[in-house]
Amino acid sequence: MLSRRHFLTSLIAVAAAQAISPSISLATEKRRIPWRNWSGSQQCFPQARKAPTSVAELQALITSTKGVIRPVGSGHSFSPLVPTDDILVSLSRMSGIVSHDPDRLQATIQAGTRLGDIGQPLEAAGQALITMPDIDQQSLAGCLATATHGTGAGTGCIPTLVEALELVTANGEVLQCSEQQNSDIFQAAKVSLGSLGVITKVTLQNSAPYRLKRETVWREFDEILEVAEEMAGSNRNFEFYYIPFTGMGWTDVHNITNEPLATTERLDTNDGANDLKLARDMLSWSPALREVILSTYMKTIDDEVVIESSWKNYANDRNVRFNEMEYHLPRENGLKALKEIREVLEKDFSEVFFPIEFRYVKGDDIWLSPFYQRETCSIAVHRFFEEDYQVYFNAIEPILRKYHGRPHWGKLNKLDAQDFARLYPKWDDFRQVRQQLDPQGRFLNPYLKQLFT
Ligand SMILES: Cc1cc2nc3c(=O)[nH]c(=O)nc-3n(C[C@H](O)[C@H](O)[C@H](O)COP(=O)(O)OP(=O)(O)OC[C@H]3O[C@@H](n4cnc5c(N)ncnc54)[C@H](O)[C@@H]3O)c2cc1C
Repeated sequence: MLSRRHFLTSLIAVAAAQAISPSISLATEKRRIPWRNWSGSQQCFPQARKAPTSVAELQALITSTKGVIRPVGSGHSFSPLVPTDDILVSLSRMSGIVSHDPDRLQATIQAGTRLGDIGQPLEAAGQALITMPDIDQQSLAGCLATATHGTGAGTGCIPTLVEALELVTANGEVLQCSEQQNSDIFQAAKVSLGSLGVITKVTLQNSAPYRLKRETVWREFDEILEVAEEMAGSNRNFEFYYIPFTGMGWTDVHNITNEPLATTERLDTNDGANDLKLARDMLSWSPALREVILSTYMKTIDDEVVIESSWKNYANDRNVRFNEMEYHLPRENGLKALKEIREVLEKDFSEVFFPIEFRYVKGDDIWLSPFYQRETCSIAVHRFFEEDYQVYFNAIEPILRKYHGRPHWGKLNKLDAQDFARLYPKWDDFRQVRQQLDPQGRFLNPYLKQLFT
């Protein structure tokens, strides 16, 4: 694999030397800032940053302070959910499994726990998360707040796994919420953008530990379009990526297996992103040559198989930073929308090199879940974090909206309160619960104020 990559980079360098390529100056903005999100697109200057170690400390913090309070997880959202110049509250010191029920396969977990810290102790307790997203750096509460999801036509987003939760509200009250207790608040709180209060504990419905076989196959885009619906139906987890200006992509499936642990040589996706960037930078003078070189290379990449414990086999390392827009569309619209996006992208945005990600998510009945009452396809577009994403996202967003998409709460979009009210049948019910729990708007930053008041 290494020598093939070496061959690819040499080929790009030789081809680039044939022309005087324009130098690309990337605007790198470096500022000292107290808080910023993973991609650097959101930032703020909070007066105070607090990390309570107990519910009592959190209650005291809420009742003894004035001003806006914003809960923060691990800062992996792209949308302006977190920023405040008042008080940021992190539950990073409230982490770990509190208790577990072996008969029901349920576990109560502190809301500040990062997903990557859940797998091992949960396995020791005889349980495993039913689904996970494509990284495991997020906090559990952060995943609830934005309806974080993995992929699989039969698998819901993370909040669908929630059996109960504990919420500390604006007046310092601690509410236990489930279908039986505070049931309206429970429906609202499962996906609530951190706007109802601070979630401190979550009880999840899990499964017994399981092993997953992950199979990655490189294919031509037209073939992917042909097989996607069938593969989504016949595999537990299915997703695919399309790489702009190559006509190529790859499919990824995960299925439960009892086969022994195994792994083939794996292409590092961070190296892959860097190679795509290199090709973009050095071959900007000839998109046709860029396409020939990249697609020829991709056709030589071997299939990959990884068999591992489930919690080690969902997530990837994402070290090449980007900004992202992702919309959730009715399943029947997904592939049509993708074809249109590809056309616009390849007609007008030759500078884009990040793959488009396409996933499937099962519908649910959570009030502010983007998967509310519909089977869903998710389409995500990305731009390198140092480059302006706006023109590209502005061109793609109308396509996603035309096909009735709902944006991922944690990712970039241009929708306002009226748009969301049209997209979410339970929007007003949510607003009522929110108003009742937080009449003074202590949990609202400017973005959330514009949505909910
Ligand atoms: C590289 C990368 C990969 C990603 N992959 C996926 C993916 O595969 N699938 C997917 O769906 N999304 C994905 N995301 C998006 C990410 O999962 C969500 O944005 C998620 O909400 C981030 O969690 P966090 O802990 O970083 O929360 P933050 O971004 O810090 O906060 C998100 C929200 O959670 C709220 N919150 C945090 N803690 C609490 C609390 N204790 N109580 C109440 N509210 C709280 C915040 O107020 C905010 O509204 C990805 C993001 C990145 C950067």
